[in-house]
This record gives sequence, C-alpha cells and structure tokens, in this order.
Amino acid sequence: MCCYDLHSHSTASDGTLTPAALLEKACTLGVNVLALTDHDTLDGVAEARRASATLDLQLIPGVEISVSWKSMTLHVLGLSVDPDNPTLLDGLQGLQVMREQRAQQIGHKLAKAGIPGALEGVRRHSRGKILSRTHFAQFLIESGRAASMQDVFKNFLVKGKPGYVRCEWASLEQALGWIRGAGGLPVIAHPARYRLTRSKLRTLAGEFREAGGLGLEVVSGSHNRDETLHMAAVSREHKLFASCGSDYHGPEKPWVELGRLRGIPEGCTPIWHSEAWTVATAA
Ligand code: AMP
Ligand code: MN
Ligand code: MN
Ligand code: MN
Repeated sequence: MCCYDLHSHSTASDGTLTPAALLEKACTLGVNVLALTDHDTLDGVAEARRASATLDLQLIPGVEISVSWKSMTLHVLGLSVDPDNPTLLDGLQGLQVMREQRAQQIGHKLAKAGIPGALEGVRRHSRGKILSRTHFAQFLIESGRAASMQDVFKNFLVKGKPGYVRCEWASLEQALGWIRGAGGLPVIAHPARYRLTRSKLRTLAGEFREAGGLGLEVVSGSHNRDETLHMAAVSREHKLFASCGSDYHGPEKPWVELGRLRGIPEGCTPIWHSEAWTVATAA
C-alpha cells in the first residue's frame, strides 16, 4: 500500500526542517508520496526536488494559500502546481508583501503592549521570506512572554488580544484561479479547524466547487476521529475528492508525525484516484 502525506511545511515557511531534511525524514518513515505545501511560497520546492531525485519518494510540489472568505481565514492547498508559473508566483508575491506589512504592524502593537523587539525576533526565527505568526510565537516563548504555542494562540496574536492584526488575504476565486492556472489541484486544508456551522460549510463547499475546487482534506493531522468522519460525509455529499495530510511542521510537535495518518474513510474517493491527479502529476 502506498503511503500518501499531502500537506507538510519546511523552513521556507514556518516549518523547522529544511526541505531536504523533511524529505529524508519522510522517506525514513515510509512515506511514498509527499506534498511540500509551505504557506504562500514555493521557495522550498527547488531544494525538495533535488533531494527527491536521490530518494525513493515522489515529491508533489504544492503550496498552502491564505484566503479570506466571509471575514475569516481559510487555507487552500494547491497540489501538484507548476512552481514556475508566473501568475501563481505573482499572486504569492503579493501575499508575501502582506505578511511583511502585517509583521510590522504586529511588531508595533506588541511594542505598545510592552513587548519590544518582536519584529527583530521574528526575523531571527524565520529562515525564508515568509513571516508567520508561528515565528512570533517562537519569539514570545523564547523571551518568556508566553508559556507555550497554545498560550500564544489563545492570549496573543488572536482577535481581542495583544498583537492581533486583521489581514485581507487572497479571495477564494483568486486562489483557485492561480492554482488551476498552474495546473494544480485545489484542496480545502484541515476543514474542521474553521469551526463552521453546517450551513456555512455547505456554502463553502458549493462556492469552492463552483470556482474549480476539487478536494477536501478529510484526513488531517489536526482532525480527531469524529472530525474525520464528519468531513468524510461532507466530501461524499459535495462530491469532493478526499485528501490526507499531516500538516507536519517539525519535530517540536511530536504528536504530529509525517505519514502517520488514518486511512481515507469508506465511501470517499481519494484524490489520487481522480483523473485530474493523473493529468496533473504526469505533467
Ligand atoms: P499565519 O498564517 O502567519 O497567520 O500563521 C498561522 C500558523 O500558525 C498556522 O499555519 C499554524 O502553523 C500556526 N498556528 C495557528 N494556530 C495554532 C495553534 N493553536 N497552535 C499552534 N500553532 C498554531
Ligand atoms: Mn503553519
Ligand atoms: Mn493551515
Ligand atoms: Mn499547513
């Protein structure tokens, strides 16, 4: 049986392993097909490609795009995209600029709240172009301002707390246009994380399909068993292919491991059985 892990991060965004180290680890753990899906960048793909050439592992070049939808943030994966597609690269470049501006605003807000030096701290922690809240979290923990990641995402950087900045990311239509234009397959990442009501979830699935969306990440490192079964039902109802990915960020979160995922539930069609997958991965 082939082991698929279609969602992972490297130092090109907020992961802690380099693309090469990530692929080596995936290979050691028995992953056969790995998608590198850094936040809003394809910068890790070239190194990952070089590493995969020496390993018995198929690399799927991917990206996890930040999307604003109905005043909330969603993550949409683009699997098997052409990493040199100019329109996609342009779109991602815009998001990278927004991340830079947001980081400056977060830095100001934290300084006003009595926490100086955050922007410099974040630049120290980020090893690629992407400035992420994860890097702010690492700074806040290192400087003793926060106790843990959970503390940060509860008491800082979120609505109503110090260091919160609202951001208008790509629209759903834009993100799907970029992914499709680059020959990729759009997949809604970790759908249970958004805490959507049934009717909102239905609306999202409808709009997503309408705009060319293809898959739902039914099996995720951040879904429990009930959430997985719920999303399996959504994927069947809305005829979205099922994807699975750990959302691995590095060994610092030992409860998430590469390739250690539940199987795709009964009645769902894995995205790698779709014709679109065959076409996209043959390109
Ligand atoms: P950003 O895209 O820069 O706003 O940062 C979002 C990132 O923060 C996500 O991709 C996760 O890696 C991380 N994150 C969000 N919520 C949590 C949480 N509750 N615990 C740990 N990490 C989180
Ligand atoms: Mn992340
Ligand atoms: Mn995500
Ligand atoms: Mn992710």
